[in-house]
Amino acid sequence: MTFQGEQYEEEFLLADVRVESELPNDHAHLFAAKAGLCAYFPFRGDRGRIIADQRAGEMHTGTEPTLEEVQEIVRKRCYLPIKISDAVWMAWFRISHRIVQHYGSGRVFLAGDAAHIHSPAGGQGMNTGIQDAFNLGWKLALVAGGLAGRGLLESYEAERMPVAKSVISMTDSMTRIGTSANPAVQHLRDIFMPLLTGIPFVKEKMVGRLAEVAIDYRGSAWVENHGLGPVRAGDRAPDAMLYDREARVERRIFDLLKTPGFVLLAFEGFETPKPPDGILAGLPGTVYRVTRPGRQTGPCELEDRDCRALASYGVGDEGLFILIRPDGYVGYRGENAAALAAYIERLEGAA
Ligand SMILES: Cc1cc2nc3c(=O)[nH]c(=O)nc-3n(C[C@H](O)[C@H](O)[C@H](O)COP(=O)(O)OP(=O)(O)OC[C@H]3O[C@@H](n4cnc5c(N)ncnc54)[C@H](O)[C@@H]3O)c2cc1C
Repeated sequence: MTFQGEQYEEEFLLADVRVESELPNDHAHLFAAKAGLCAYFPFRGDRGRIIADQRAGEMHTGTEPTLEEVQEIVRKRCYLPIKISDAVWMAWFRISHRIVQHYGSGRVFLAGDAAHIHSPAGGQGMNTGIQDAFNLGWKLALVAGGLAGRGLLESYEAERMPVAKSVISMTDSMTRIGTSANPAVQHLRDIFMPLLTGIPFVKEKMVGRLAEVAIDYRGSAWVENHGLGPVRAGDRAPDAMLYDREARVERRIFDLLKTPGFVLLAFEGFETPKPPDGILAGLPGTVYRVTRPGRQTGPCELEDRDCRALASYGVGDEGLFILIRPDGYVGYRGENAAALAAYIERLEGAA
């Protein structure tokens, strides 16, 4: 497999140490000094991780940092009294941004850092890799178990490669702006970063992006959407509380998703769309009918007592089918039971 990209010129320092300071330990701290960046991530208790960049031309290849060197970097860049001691791990390291040309070849599939690596700015590598595995796992299980055709596996690269490309591009920009030695770039960064990140809308967008809960596969050929609404096929299924009248307990949609398999939410409309009997017979999963407030419920029927699920999924008078895939993303959204059945057949028969 080719692994295209390049190594950054800068070197980085990592030190896991004991920290004595007045800084609150429920926040990450980033100091942008002229000499370079210094980030402090508090751990539990009095320990924390220091990460700093070192400009190109000052390489430490083959050596380990000393506590004195780390203390000196912290003193010069953090402007506050921070005393470090008792290191358990210190290293100089270099980073690269690279991606494979294909996520699979024959029977071999790549996930995580084997498929894409990038700067740790924004802390996204592990999350991206875990989501790769989540995306691939259920597809492999269905194909290996003879429940779906091999074509389904093509959707792994189609859905996940754009995510990795976007993470690489964002972390690359963050790294280049963060580590720039250009005084003009530093000046603009120091003015605009606090301003921008103080705007609630921007903050919310950044959290969704960095936590990777805003990713969607709307463009995937393996999801099917009919109609408009706040949740489309390819979106991460939102949570909501439903009431199980038989068991007399509230049940979160996220809890329904914990059992491996598909979850079909058949939202009741005024023209109740009833899922055809045995619609999920060929795939592992459960069908739940979601009723409007006050309706009688039976087995596998859940009541939306405060209409929150109806609102967040955008259910109209006609009712709605939402087929949630085992990775928590909506595979099918629509009102037509026949179209839903055809979609499921397509998954099963993917040749
Ligand atoms: C300084 C730093 C900070 C980071 N911070 C964050 C963060 O805050 N949030 C985040 O999400 N990500 C972060 N990351 C990225 C994250 O650590 C990686 O993306 C993640 O660990 C990749 O997991 P992986 O399982 O794909 O690969 P790895 O963790 O590299 O696991 C691969 C494993 O395979 C083993 N292996 C290799 N070759 C063989 C072989 N031939 N046979 C058997 N075993 C083999 C290796 O020893 C290794 O254990 C950070 C990375 C760095 C460097």
